[in-house]
Amino acid sequence: MSQASVRSDGLQIAKERPAAAVKWIYAFGDGKADGGATDRDILGGKGANLAEMASSGLPVPPGFTITTEIGRAFHENGGVLPDEIKQAVVLALGKLEKQTGKKFGSTEKPLLISVRSGARTSMPGMMDTILNLGMNTDTADALGRQTGNDWFALDTLRRFTAMYGTVVQGVDHSAYEEVHENLLEKYELGDLQDLSAEEMRELIAAYKAAMLEDYDVEFHQDPYEQLWSAIIAVIESWNSPRARVYRAAHNISDEWGTAVTIQAMVFGNSGETSGTGVAFTRDPSTGEDTLFGEFIPNAQGEDIVAGFTTPRSITKAARKALDQAKLSLEELLPEVFKGLQALAHRVERHFGDMQDIEFTIEDGHLWLLQTRDGKRSATASIRIAVEMAKAKVISRKTALLRVDPASLDQLLHPGIDPKARRPVIGRGLPAAPGAATGQIVFTAHDAVEASETGQRVILVRPETNPDDIHGMHASEGVLTSRGGMTSHAAVVARGMGKPCVTGAGQIRIDVQAGEMSASGQTFKPGDLITIDGNTGEVMAGSLPMVQPRLSRDFAELMEWADAERRMQVRTNADLPEDAMVADSFGAEGIGLCRTEHMFQEYEERLFAMRQLIMAKDAGERSAALNELLPMQREDFVKLFLAMPGKPVTIRLLDPPLSEFLPHRASEQREVAEKLGITLDQLQERLTQLSDLNPVLGNRGARVAITYPEIADMQVRAIFEAAVLAGDKTGLPVVPEIMVPLIAYNNELRHIRQRIDRIASKIIEEKGKPFDYLVGCIIEVPRAAIRADFIAEVADFFSFGTNDLTQTALGLSRDDASVVMSKYIREGVVAMDPFINLDVEGVGELIRIAAEKGRRVNPELSLSISGEHGGDPVSIQFCQELGMQYVSCSPYRVPVAKLAAAQAAIRIGSAPAA
Ligand code: PEP
Ligand code: MG
Repeated sequence: MSQASVRSDGLQIAKERPAAAVKWIYAFGDGKADGGATDRDILGGKGANLAEMASSGLPVPPGFTITTEIGRAFHENGGVLPDEIKQAVVLALGKLEKQTGKKFGSTEKPLLISVRSGARTSMPGMMDTILNLGMNTDTADALGRQTGNDWFALDTLRRFTAMYGTVVQGVDHSAYEEVHENLLEKYELGDLQDLSAEEMRELIAAYKAAMLEDYDVEFHQDPYEQLWSAIIAVIESWNSPRARVYRAAHNISDEWGTAVTIQAMVFGNSGETSGTGVAFTRDPSTGEDTLFGEFIPNAQGEDIVAGFTTPRSITKAARKALDQAKLSLEELLPEVFKGLQALAHRVERHFGDMQDIEFTIEDGHLWLLQTRDGKRSATASIRIAVEMAKAKVISRKTALLRVDPASLDQLLHPGIDPKARRPVIGRGLPAAPGAATGQIVFTAHDAVEASETGQRVILVRPETNPDDIHGMHASEGVLTSRGGMTSHAAVVARGMGKPCVTGAGQIRIDVQAGEMSASGQTFKPGDLITIDGNTGEVMAGSLPMVQPRLSRDFAELMEWADAERRMQVRTNADLPEDAMVADSFGAEGIGLCRTEHMFQEYEERLFAMRQLIMAKDAGERSAALNELLPMQREDFVKLFLAMPGKPVTIRLLDPPLSEFLPHRASEQREVAEKLGITLDQLQERLTQLSDLNPVLGNRGARVAITYPEIADMQVRAIFEAAVLAGDKTGLPVVPEIMVPLIAYNNELRHIRQRIDRIASKIIEEKGKPFDYLVGCIIEVPRAAIRADFIAEVADFFSFGTNDLTQTALGLSRDDASVVMSKYIREGVVAMDPFINLDVEGVGELIRIAAEKGRRVNPELSLSISGEHGGDPVSIQFCQELGMQYVSCSPYRVPVAKLAAAQAAIRIGSAPAA
């Protein structure tokens, strides 16, 4: 028979350990711990890190963690703490009493504890924590006697009364604020720290009176009642509305639950050589290797968050930089500061990353209460990763994995000054990174006119189409109320490196009336707005900007990425200027030149194209083609010269011909006049050419077969340009001709025969042979499924995942944002497939095509050229399939390089299946 004793909480505690197999409690302290950093799943991040800190000899107050299983056990037991757990807690508390030489609830040397939440992933501020538990009027008296500091004991009691009342007893925090504001006013004091012990007593009495009067609750005097209620409150805070919302937003499973950590209190409010603070081991905005943070003397941790007292800087340098009058920790308690510095260094080394540390100073003694990986800016993340790798704290591979590739986008574009106030009037999709500010214009024409007079403008339209390209060029940025991440505006702006926000549905744009309304305000042409393409926010007025500056660390990280990655990174560039930008970021060629943009970009090319489309007979057609040929040849020569010695893939015309004719009545009149035809003639031709659904109409390979002269002209221009550019640089050019929107292998066969014929002719004319490749962009499911047949005639496949997603889903890419944003909110899908590749669906088509294509043609080169080519998640998928390269817009080249390196590292280190 086991002996049993009865505790003050009424529980029978078996002296022998019960036979139960479940380990509920993991203790830590005094240089030892059960568990460690790898036990986040059961101990939560906080519990795991505290265990790790304790066992590595860092000064953490001792305590224990109840595992994350507690929530499940509590609910399965009908919302009552199981006795088995209570017994385990009482036993652990007994050990803590021995370790600290104090006793829970004692009226001589009371042990006070904190009861803290902590999930597997940090959810800052989302769940509850209670400090100073075990406090009541008796223990407060004891604490006062023991320390000879009544003020401290009463300050601790009033803190506990309010915190416990708020978290456990359902009292609104504002009730306490109101009471203390009244008291401060009565005594004409500015801060609670200025109250005398007597006044503090009055405050506590007033707190209790308010609780009773307004909430009908009495303060819990019994420490065990406090303890069990606090544990339950922490468990239940996992399901608080704010925690649920946070989890939904951060993809955290509802199943995980929180651990409960119980820890002996140390007191930052015990006098002038005490205090509390938060320190980052490096500057989280710049990454500089210096201690950074804030602290408040004679206070407890909650004060830092509460914001009633302005915290002081930790270092003297920061105090000076911020022009603060009150002494920093470095000046006030220099020995403690030195200790903190040394500990910060140790903690960082131990965890191998920049840390965010909570500390408390109790009578000059430093304690660490928590550490976690510190959040940081994109700039800081690069600097810290590079410097830590150079210091050999981490490997280069780890450094590469530490930087979020998507964050690099921010570094390459101007951004809004982080200190600026942001008067947000609407939100859309962050379609192209960077921020821009300028006057509103509603038409491309106005954009061009305004920019010619030196004004900076933002082009605001319901959506854009090819007629707007010159206006987009003339603008600082583009805002549309419709469209998604792969809409015309998004793709074109990204290619141009211009910030763009699309699909800002709450903003109403009335182009006819020349008006935009948002958030109850009306904006006219000339009014200033700012758009943030990183967040999708639209703001009223002109916000201050910060310009990007690429650091040496950035370049170094890119070099490391180049050494690791296995896929090449090319760019989608249509114009030599874009190609040069991409080249400066280290693009290894052009993976997609959308030739239609060359026509839409330059007036005279567009005019010649329109002449061709309106040609009445063979003579006029051939005249127009003769005009277009040298222009295209010149375009291609420039493109080849912008990428000397590198591969260049040029796509034959993709859109339906109707896209080259003006759609707006005012422009139609003007164009008809220039072409020397009537408005009726133009409109009639437009009607003939217009497809009911242009996306699924006569476009891509279909245009090359139904109007072969255009494709023939382009092919000739490409080959002639290749010969010219090759002669000029001495580096042979091997052009890659890409045929769009193939569905049948015979389409490609047919077009390839024409290409081969033209090549033979030019070789004969020039008397000089040259090499070239012919391939296709896979954009419809049939092409993917019949890839083995298509591969017989193709040298390469590029996956056009914009169209492939659109055709696989049967959902127009220009209309997708409305559906997808709702789908994401409702949890129908986790990600927008036009941003992150739908690996299970569209990805499966790609997998089938890759496998079938390679089976027939082992030399077949595979790549991706849809917008997903710049998306890190999609790039990982491309690496898994062993693609040769990804191709993305110029500014995304560094993003893609880093993502490709990460994919190679991850796949390389994955255990063999
Ligand atoms: C695609 O469809 O993925 C593609 C690259 O072509 P575009 O965006 O020009 O339709
Ligand atoms: Mg396409």
